[in-house]
Amino acid sequence: IFAAVEMAPRDPILGLNEAFQADPRAEKVNLGVGVYYDDNGKIPLLAAVKAAEEQRLKLAPPRGYQPIEGAAAYNKAVQTLLFGTDSALLDAGRAVTIEALGGTGALKIGADFLNRLNSSAKVYISDPSWENHRALFEAAGFDVGAYPYYDAATRGVNFSAMLAALKGYAAGSIIVLHACCHNPTGADLTLEQWQQVVDTIRERDLVAFVDMAYQGFADGIEPDAAALRLFADSGLEFFVSSSFSKSFSLYGERVGALTIVTADRDASARVLSQVKRVIRTNYSNPPTHGGIVVATVLSDAGLRAQWEEELAGMRDRIRLMRTQLVERIAAAGVKQDFSFVVQQRGMFSFTGLTAAQVERMKQEYGIYAVSTGRICLAALNSKNIDTVAKAIASVIAD
Ligand code: PMP
Repeated sequence: IFAAVEMAPRDPILGLNEAFQADPRAEKVNLGVGVYYDDNGKIPLLAAVKAAEEQRLKLAPPRGYQPIEGAAAYNKAVQTLLFGTDSALLDAGRAVTIEALGGTGALKIGADFLNRLNSSAKVYISDPSWENHRALFEAAGFDVGAYPYYDAATRGVNFSAMLAALKGYAAGSIIVLHACCHNPTGADLTLEQWQQVVDTIRERDLVAFVDMAYQGFADGIEPDAAALRLFADSGLEFFVSSSFSKSFSLYGERVGALTIVTADRDASARVLSQVKRVIRTNYSNPPTHGGIVVATVLSDAGLRAQWEEELAGMRDRIRLMRTQLVERIAAAGVKQDFSFVVQQRGMFSFTGLTAAQVERMKQEYGIYAVSTGRICLAALNSKNIDTVAKAIASVIAD
C-alpha cells in the first residue's frame, strides 16, 4: 500500500531545525524558528505559568474528558483578552469561542467550518505570510491566493496595492489578516489603514479571518488588540484565531482558541453547534492542561499581573535585540541603513538578506535563517549578537 508514496518535501522551518541540530559547530545560532528564547538561549517557563501548574498539581484533579468546545473559563478569558472587559459584542452574545490545539488548530477548525459553509469561496493570504497559512487553507479544500502586502523597497506595507486587491475580490472571499506583529515581515498596518480594511471588507462583503498569534509582543495586550476592536465595533461577522504558544511560552501544550463573531446570540448558538461537530469528528475534545493553566493565570489578579510583567520582559528584550543588532551591524562597518529593524514589530525581521547571503551565513558561520531573509530576533542574546552582526556585515560586504 505504500509503494507509490513519494517523499514529501521537508517543512522549510522544521527542516532548518533538523539541519541546525545536526551542525556540530559550538557557536552555531538558529534564527529560523518562531520561538522566544531568553538571554541564556533557553525557552522560559514563566513564573505565572509555574505557579498555576503548582496549584493544579496540588488539587490533583481527575482527568475526565473536557467538553467538545473546551473549558468555559478558558474560552471566556480568551474573549476578554480579545475584546476587553467592557464589550458590547460580548454582552450581546455575539461571540463563540472554542479551545483549540494552538493557533494552528484554531485556523484549521475555522477553515474546515468555512469550507462546509462555502467550499467555492477563495481564500486570500498576505504576500508573504506565515508559511502554513496557504497549506492549511488548501488542506481544508480552498483555492488560496495572495493579496499584495510587503513592499521590499520601503520595507513597509504596500497599502494602496493591498486595498485595491481587496476591492477586486468576489463577495464571500475569505481574507486572512495578521492582527499584529506580522509574520514574517514585522510590518503592521496603522490603525487608520485597519479602518479602511474593515470598511472595504464590509463594502465588498468579504469574510475576515484575523490571526492573533502574538498578542502582547508589539505594545501590550490592550494596544495589540486595537485592530481587532475595530472589527468588533464594525458590527461585522468574522473569525479570530488565538495562539498562546508565545505569550505564555507554552509551545508544546498546544493552547489556542477559535472565536467566531456572529450577528446575534441565536446565530452564535447555531454556529457553536456546527463547530462542535467539526471538532468531534476531528479530535473529539481538547487536552486539559494548557487551557486550564492559561485560564488560571488570567482569572487570578496576582498571576495575571505577574504574567503581564513577564510578557513585557519578553517584549522589551526583543526590542533591545533590535536596537543592538542595528548598532552592531553599523559598528561592523556596514553603510546600509538597517534602522528599519527597530521599526518592525513582533518576533521577526525581514532583513533583506538574499537567499545566497543566508546560505553563506549558514555555511561560513553556522547561523541559520529562513531563505527569505526572515530572522527571529528572540533567538538573539548578549552572547551571540556580535557573531550574528559580524556575519551579516561580512555577507553583505562582498
Ligand atoms: N499564526 C501565525 C501568524 C504564527 O506565526 C503561528 C506560529 N508560528 C501560528 C499561527 C501558529 O501558532 P501555534 O504554534 O500556536 O499553532
